Amino acid sequence: MDYLPIFLRVQNRLAVVIGGGAVAARKAELLLKCGARIRLVAPELAAATERLLQHHAAAAQMTHLSAAFAAEHLEGAAWAFAATDSEELNAQVSRLARERGIPVNVADDAEGSDFILPAIVDRAPLIVAVSSAGTAPVLARRVREQIESLLPSGLGVLARLAGSQRQRVNEGLQPALRRPFWERFFGTTAHLEQLARDETAAQRAFASELASFSARPEGAGLGEVYLIGAGPGDPDLLTLRALQLLQQADVLLYDRLVAPAILDRARREATRIFVGKDVGDATLSQDRINELLIEHARRGLKVARLKGGDPLIFGRGGEEIAAVARHGIPVTVVPGITAALGAAASAQIPLTLREVSQSVTFAPGHVAVADTLDWPALARSGHTVVFYMAMAQLAALTARLREAGAPADRPVALIAQATLPTQRVVRGTLADIAEAARTGGLGAPALLFVGDVTRVEQQQALESLEPCLEGVA
Ligand code: SAH
Repeated sequence: MDYLPIFLRVQNRLAVVIGGGAVAARKAELLLKCGARIRLVAPELAAATERLLQHHAAAAQMTHLSAAFAAEHLEGAAWAFAATDSEELNAQVSRLARERGIPVNVADDAEGSDFILPAIVDRAPLIVAVSSAGTAPVLARRVREQIESLLPSGLGVLARLAGSQRQRVNEGLQPALRRPFWERFFGTTAHLEQLARDETAAQRAFASELASFSARPEGAGLGEVYLIGAGPGDPDLLTLRALQLLQQADVLLYDRLVAPAILDRARREATRIFVGKDVGDATLSQDRINELLIEHARRGLKVARLKGGDPLIFGRGGEEIAAVARHGIPVTVVPGITAALGAAASAQIPLTLREVSQSVTFAPGHVAVADTLDWPALARSGHTVVFYMAMAQLAALTARLREAGAPADRPVALIAQATLPTQRVVRGTLADIAEAARTGGLGAPALLFVGDVTRVEQQQALESLEPCLEGVA
């Protein structure tokens, strides 16, 4: 970081602004909004600056020196702002201010400035400041716009309400309950938006939440478990709720399929525990994982159990829910985009397609040698089958489908590392895909899509059909 972001108290302190144009007016206006006093130095004023002056001169918050800038104008200044259209004059202001130990800001000149002004999202008392350290102001403003659209306009009222009630919460609740109280009060984003829209509702919610927290027995556990689907790999495919809960979690338990970029989205202070489960390789046993979830939640922590894809598809999520719930610990399940859906989207393979495939089955490929699946049903035409854990027994898997009646030339697609930059797609048939995977050096995690929907010609046909399919939902 090249700059230290800080928030300055400027009330009733003197800022000297040199310049009479629109840039000077913008800076002065911001300073006035924060309660600073302004000495404006400029021989002439533009209309915007003139208006500002008329508005604030009466309250003696702003004075105007109608003169060319001279060193003595900096007398008593806490900060100086050079905002003239002369680079030379701005540089002179910068030099003279620095000689006097007065922090100076020069418009459009990071070198000449001791501090820079960020782009601001104002939900006072809540303020978000964005800076690109002077490298790309337009980008910083774009980011500001995005944040602006994310934050409900009533957020400031809500922050003020929280501020005014802080003391009451501190007096009414034991220390361990205070943070959980505020977390519950502000709640999920949807809840927060509702509170921000309606102040009376916010006050009511505050009172009832405080009453319920005050009634809690001393030392009652507050821990909970979030079972979160982390999606197939690309962090942009996380749900908003997954992101929210990641931000709240104190502890993260994750396995191999959870990409590092996803862990990066969690709170920096959260403890990260690798439990490394993958097909046929359990770094920690399922029982041990269940124990860890329970242990941490019992200590009053929020535990996020992150699983690749969706937690309830080939993820043993059901067992974890049961184990945790047995101990009376609340569990929240957040769905994720399962690998088959992520892969289908990024390889653009339709899972169902009119006239070609009416249903889709997700099946485990690593049990190819076992008799737990209905192989004749999986081998039938007219539907799509996606095998998870496809690499472990790929040759046995394709052989099994053929034995059960699928033709050797049934089209298939093998998709490895779906949605990640390393994604690979290999197409072929039941007869040749195992060999193609070997020569292509494809490794886990991978999915085998089986069915006519994987045929490339099918996709071309689809394109030519598009005009006819329009309007078919
Ligand atoms: N709960 C997960 C599946 C866990 S089983 C989900 O819903 O996606 C593990 C299998 O998922 C892997 O063997 C592989 O078949 C599949 N898988 C997970 N991520 C994948 C990815 N990015 N690309 C391809 N296959 C993936």
